[in-house]
Order: sequence, then structure tokens, then C-alpha cells
Amino acid sequence: MRASDTFARLGGDQFAIVQVGIAGEPDVEALCARILETVRRPFNLLGHEVFLGASIGIALAPEAGDERADLLRKADIALYRAKGEGRNCYRYFTPSLDETVQLRSRLEEDLRTALADGEGLQVFYQPEVASAGQPVIGLEALVRWQHPTRGLISPEQFIPIAEETGLIMPLGEWVLRQACIVSRRWPELLMAVNLSPVQVRSSGFAERVIEIVRECGADPRRIEFEITEGTLLDNGEFTGKVLQSLREAGFRIALDDFGTGYSSLNYLRQFEIDKIKIDRSFVQPLGRALGLTVTAEGVETEEQKRLIAAMGASEMQGFLFSQAVPEDWDAGLLSRLNARAKPNEARSALTTLALPMGSGS
Ligand code: C2E
Ligand code: CA
Ligand code: CA
Repeated sequence: MRASDTFARLGGDQFAIVQVGIAGEPDVEALCARILETVRRPFNLLGHEVFLGASIGIALAPEAGDERADLLRKADIALYRAKGEGRNCYRYFTPSLDETVQLRSRLEEDLRTALADGEGLQVFYQPEVASAGQPVIGLEALVRWQHPTRGLISPEQFIPIAEETGLIMPLGEWVLRQACIVSRRWPELLMAVNLSPVQVRSSGFAERVIEIVRECGADPRRIEFEITEGTLLDNGEFTGKVLQSLREAGFRIALDDFGTGYSSLNYLRQFEIDKIKIDRSFVQPLGRALGLTVTAEGVETEEQKRLIAAMGASEMQGFLFSQAVPEDWDAGLLSRLNARAKPNEARSALTTLALPMGSGS
């Protein structure tokens, strides 16, 4: 830094730098690059090599304003964005970031209200079907939010807000209760419920889940919790114990979105790799059969269905079979599907269920 720059600790691990009279963005960016470079270097702490990271938010005056508190707030918004985009980087404040933040805080408020009066939130259920034989094996509970003025808001948009604000706890419990009630109506079906990493790492989570399911009179052996690789990675030991308690109580655990995370089939696409070699540690247990059920998600076409069945997935889920439908959506149809119908009948009924959800429900 220059002698004329100000460096301040705002509290905790948050610091501020005030630079006056800079030439423009190149100056700021050179400083940011130096900070990131320096902070990243490993150092020795009591004989251990440790690493730090830093995220930087930038507000430039006068473009972003010229009022002290406002600039600080805007730098903070930019910092938040830098963290959201993978950390160890810097981001500038832009007006659209401000809008995003304001929209989020409005949505947070509205979500709080929706949870308090139970209005606008609903759980839909998407069938999971067997690649061969028995048509519908399970249902996945997927939350829906009909916002009073903004219309239907995707869970991809509001779940992250719920996670950041802690609202995921009451929301998750509410979804679980709904799913338990519906599960009692379909005792032969597995009911899949998504868990956020935030829920899993909250203290007393397994105990609360066990209690809720007992209260609702559902059978834990019919409930399958879907977790993501992210859940497994953060705080592995603690998560392991939570999952173990859940399994001991009879619940099943499924790994959702497998291949999109760290393990990661995504690299294949990203780097155009031509061949994969499967590690010995995977192959050897395969000899004894992993005993895993593999469900292919997002099956939309007959062609995909055919290929996936040939590749050995035992279950499928996707718009080809059905979208997620409300619990009262032609319950008769689902019950016919589920009534151990003759395979032929079942198959034709399944085609009916594949109709896109319309107003006729
Ligand atoms: P997910 O758990 O991977 O759920 C599957 C998503 O894929 C659902 O989106 C479903 O409607 C969609 N989908 C299913 N079949 C097809 C298909 O053939 N084609 C396409 N294009 N999409 C298909 P949805 O309901 O919008 O949910 C998005 C995500 O939000 C979920 O992804 C899940 O991560 C999260 N989510 C939904 N409900 C909950 C919940 O109650 N709790 C938590 N923690 N997360 C939830
Ligand atoms: Ca899922
Ligand atoms: Ca998924």
C-alpha cells in the first residue's frame, strides 16, 4: 500500500482499505492481485503449514456514490458476491448487485411470512419409476412457492435464501411433515425428502427428524433423505454421525446429483476428456456389488430411457414419466399405478401420467 492509504480492521476477519487519489481500476486491481497473492502463500504455524484465503469487495467513488456509509455498504455487497463466486477473488460493486440484494431481502421477508401463515407454500411429488417391472417406486417431495405477486418462484431461487437466513430449518421441517403425511397414504412407496447441508449440520438434527417422523406417524423405513456431495464434504465426521443416527432409526440415505459436484463427471464435459479409468477402489467393491440403487434423474426422452436402462440404472425420474404433481392430483391415477397392476396396464397408465401438468388437475 501507499503511505497515504488507510488500512483498518472492521472487526473479526474483516478489513478495509481506503485509497484516495488513485488513477482508476488498474490501480485497484493491482493492489487486489498483490493482496490475494500474498495472503495465499502458505506459512508456518506451530510447525504446521497453513493457508489463508481472502475475498475482496470494491466500491469506487464517485461511480458507486460518495457517501461514507453507503460506500462501505456497497463494498460489503461486492465482498459478499466475491465470496459467493468461489472466494479468493475480487468483485466490484454494481447497481445490479444492489438490486439483487434488495430482491433477496424482500424475498426473505415474504418467505418468513409464507412460513408463518402457511400460505403459498406447497409440496409437489414427482414419481420415481423402475427401469423394469413395478412402475412407481417412490415419490420425491419438491417444495413449491406461489408468491403472492411474483408468481411461482423456483426452489433453486429461494432455497439458497432460506439457507442463508436459517429459514431452511422451519421450511425443511414443514416439508418433512407434509411428506410424512402423504407417505402414510402411500405405504408401499418410498418418500424422498431433500436435505440441505445447513439442516444436516445444525445441532440435534437427527433427533429432531426422528421426533417429527414419529409424531406424524410415518414409517422411517419408507423415508429416504437425499443429500448432496457438498453435505458429505463439509464437516465429514459430524455429518457421518448424523447420517449414521438416521440410518439406525431406519431411514434410507440417497446421494443426490451425483457427478455434478466434486467427484465430478462435470470435468468430463468441461475438459473434453475422451476416456475415464475407474479407480481400483471403486472396481473392487463392484465385484461384490455395491448394493446401491442407481436412479437416473431428468429422463426426458424415450431414447434417454433406453440408453439409461441399458447402462444399468435401476430407477428413473424425469418429465418423460411425470413432472412433480400436487398431492391431490388425480390420486386415483397414482393409486392405480401403484396397485401392483399388471405390467401392461401399468405401462399405459404411466403414459397418461406423463402428460404435462395442466389446468385439468
Ligand atoms: P433436485 O433435488 O435435483 O430435484 C430434481 C429437480 O429436477 C426438480 O426441480 C424437478 O422438477 C426437476 N426435474 C425432474 N425431472 C426433470 C426432467 O426430466 N427434466 C428437467 N429439465 N428437470 C427435471 P425443482 O422442483 O425445481 O427443484 C430444484 C431443486 O431445489 C431440487 O433439485 C433440490 O435441490 C431443491 N429442492 C426442492 N425442494 C426442496 C426441499 O424441500 N428441500 C431442499 N433442501 N431442497 C429442495
Ligand atoms: Ca433431490
Ligand atoms: Ca437431483
